[in-house]
Amino acid sequence: MDFRHNISILGSTGSIGTQTLDIVRAYPGIKVWAISAYSNIDLLEKQTREFAPDLVCVVDEEKAKEFKVRVSDLPVRVTSGKAGLSEVATYEKANIVVTAVVGISGLIPTIDAIKAGKNIALANKETLVTGGHIVTKLAREHNVSLLPVDSEHSAIFQSLQGAEKKIKRILLTASGGPFFGKTRDDLTNITPADALKHPNWDMGAKVTIDSSTLVNKGLEVIEAKWLFDVDIDDIEVLVHRQSILHSAVMFEDNAVIAQLGTPDMKLPIQYALTYPQRLPMKGNELDLAAYANLTFAKPDTDTFFALSLAKKAGKEGGIMPTIFNSSDEAAVELFLKNKISYLEISESIQNAMESIKNIENPTIEDIFEADKLARRLVYDRS
Ligand code: NDP
Ligand code: MG
Repeated sequence: MDFRHNISILGSTGSIGTQTLDIVRAYPGIKVWAISAYSNIDLLEKQTREFAPDLVCVVDEEKAKEFKVRVSDLPVRVTSGKAGLSEVATYEKANIVVTAVVGISGLIPTIDAIKAGKNIALANKETLVTGGHIVTKLAREHNVSLLPVDSEHSAIFQSLQGAEKKIKRILLTASGGPFFGKTRDDLTNITPADALKHPNWDMGAKVTIDSSTLVNKGLEVIEAKWLFDVDIDDIEVLVHRQSILHSAVMFEDNAVIAQLGTPDMKLPIQYALTYPQRLPMKGNELDLAAYANLTFAKPDTDTFFALSLAKKAGKEGGIMPTIFNSSDEAAVELFLKNKISYLEISESIQNAMESIKNIENPTIEDIFEADKLARRLVYDRS
């Protein structure tokens, strides 16, 4: 069969993973060769039966054993653990790897994929936040593309097409999340259920909580720095409640070029998979006349102080962005288990950043050491 696009998906059972498979359903020219999940083997089995990949990884070892039995009637190879995830990332028949796992778990398999010469459709922003200096260098050395899936970065990437990349400033839009307009005091008693309600986007739990604290926007500032080679100070975050203008670039002549569309991840995923082609998209047309107002405002960095912490971490570089991200991962986990309060998420990040000494130009080992240290600090506080 002549497939033009051959892909593997790390995290096929998540929000980005399942929407990637929706795109595959719409375009028979895309073939999925390898997929992975952490433990959701019910959905993974359905996906395996529908998309017939050669290789499937279940990261959780026990679940992997159960999964093997379930699919024993199929000609599929099942792997497990972190090594199995890297096998999915490097599977020979795929030339694009969609990195749709959550958290720092995306870093190693993405590095492995780049070393194996795969282009990366990058959803896992934590990869660039924690290992940006290593990953971008490797991508250049192996001549592979980092194609952004994150909607804002896809919008910036689309705005840059055909331009000499002399960026004056990036305008990175943020919905403002469910607590826009609130003060710190208003947020004292926020529960996980409150924070899991995002006004415009339907996403996995971690990124939804991160959107409500603006940690997600902070991670995206650092992601943009690496993807587009701009200084943190040249990335301006704008709160845009309608999530229609997905981000923009201001060029040296002050022209602002943006990409607009409905708040739906399908276009950014599809564009990353089929770039530089633009394939037709069913539905989801933007009706601009339905929006009487598109509003833009500066973010409230007093209430949402994690955004300032992210910029600080991004400017300092070294392991600081890892400390920012990993303390957040641990704090979100504790918040979702009702073990810390909502405001303690950002406070935990601040505490970790203040307690750990930075290391310049960290190695992968330094990054994972920093990850452990940051998590321990957060767990010890709870
Ligand atoms: P989800 O939580 O919905 O999905 C995560 C996926 O990764 C699942 O397949 C899950 O498996 C798997 N997974 C979870 N933990 C691990 C682990 N430790 N090792 C390996 N695999 C694991 O996340 P999202 O799809 O929302 O987000 C994925 C990435 O994309 C994140 O980095 C996020 O920031 C980014 N992103 C997401 C957007 C969105 O709209 N959702 C928008 C822009 C970026 P299982 O189902 O078995 O738990
Ligand atoms: Mg985003």
